[in-house]
Amino acid sequence: MNSNIYKSTVFDMACLQFDRAADILQMDHRLRERVKTPKRCMIVSCPIELDTGEIVVYEGFRVQHHLSMGPTKGGLRFHPKVDLGEVAALAMWMSWKCALVDLPYGGAKGGIAVDPHTLSANELEHLSRRYMQEMIPFVGTNVDVMAPDMGTNEQIMAWMMDTYSSYVGSSAPAIVTGKPIGAGGSEGRREATGRGAAYLARTYMQDLGIAPQSATVIIQGFGNVGSEAAKAFVEYGTKVIGISDVSGAFFNPKGLDIEDALEHVAKNRSLAGWNGGDSLSNEELLEQPCDLLMPAALERVIHAENASKIQCRILCEAANGPTTNEADAILLERGDVLVIPDVLCNSGGVIVSYFEWVQDLQSTFWTRDEVLSKLYVILERAKTKVEKQKQRYGCSRREAALSLGISKVAEAKRLRGLFP
Ligand code: GLU
Repeated sequence: MNSNIYKSTVFDMACLQFDRAADILQMDHRLRERVKTPKRCMIVSCPIELDTGEIVVYEGFRVQHHLSMGPTKGGLRFHPKVDLGEVAALAMWMSWKCALVDLPYGGAKGGIAVDPHTLSANELEHLSRRYMQEMIPFVGTNVDVMAPDMGTNEQIMAWMMDTYSSYVGSSAPAIVTGKPIGAGGSEGRREATGRGAAYLARTYMQDLGIAPQSATVIIQGFGNVGSEAAKAFVEYGTKVIGISDVSGAFFNPKGLDIEDALEHVAKNRSLAGWNGGDSLSNEELLEQPCDLLMPAALERVIHAENASKIQCRILCEAANGPTTNEADAILLERGDVLVIPDVLCNSGGVIVSYFEWVQDLQSTFWTRDEVLSKLYVILERAKTKVEKQKQRYGCSRREAALSLGISKVAEAKRLRGLFP
């Protein structure tokens, strides 16, 4: 590909992972660029009026990675550091994730370079609606279906659904997933990513002979994913000994009171000022001894400098791309850390998004138990496939998961052929 519009460290990381997986699969060279390269990207300017009367223009991105297996699917991120390359990498990972868990989707991701905490509710609504308004020519219930990601939530999805519905002239709940239940959302979606990650972590604990009731977990990130995972671990009897968010980290080897932390965050929007544990930096937290370490925030937090220092048995990648390729090599060399790769570990979110989309299209709704039991079946199946693939190719668990997703997309493209 003779283009450098996506140039970024995260995009390079995703491309290198693809190249390795394609080598493992001995993929036909004639297919490789087709499968790897994002299909299309949009950059839109989103002008909004702030409460002060000032006009600010935000830049919004969306990358639709491939459209060979159905609509594209993936979250929308509000974070000050979002750029096109990061969004493209995240869209690529969504493609492999959806294919790995057999969803009829290609991958996509969107973002706006903004810190949502600096906006009032009113400004946030204007920005979310304006972004959807600008994206209308490029999305659709069978074209591209957005969802929450870092910095976005159910309310934002409701505003976006309303904006799109006003445009088509009738309620179109299937245009986004991760909506509030009262606006066409699904039971179980809010907890799907975190709970799915905790569920998989528990199955791997069992494989290693670690009793969940005597295990400890450290979670980096206390947003939707991290906090829902924490709740699930508490239910499993696993002790949550460390949590963190952008404001800092809290640690207590005897266990933290998660309910109290959740209450604090509900009142104060972050963990800042919580007195439920010893204060550490985010970096220090990652290096504390524990059975499970769960990064549930940004990419590239386990890197060449700290990979040799982390002290866990299982690294549960609830975030997308939390481990750099250099760190991956170090962990493989160490051989004492089982990595549950992101595309498997956090796939619960998009799986239940798929359930939400199906329910909206059929106007029929499932109970929470139905949703979660269907989710666990898919997670178990994907895990079994990954373990088999790992055995078959003698590769890492990440390479196994990625190569499964990638080979499925490659096969769909090969069968459909190259339109002249
Ligand atoms: N943002 C989530 C992810 O990275 C969920 C995407 C979705 O539900 O479409 O997997």
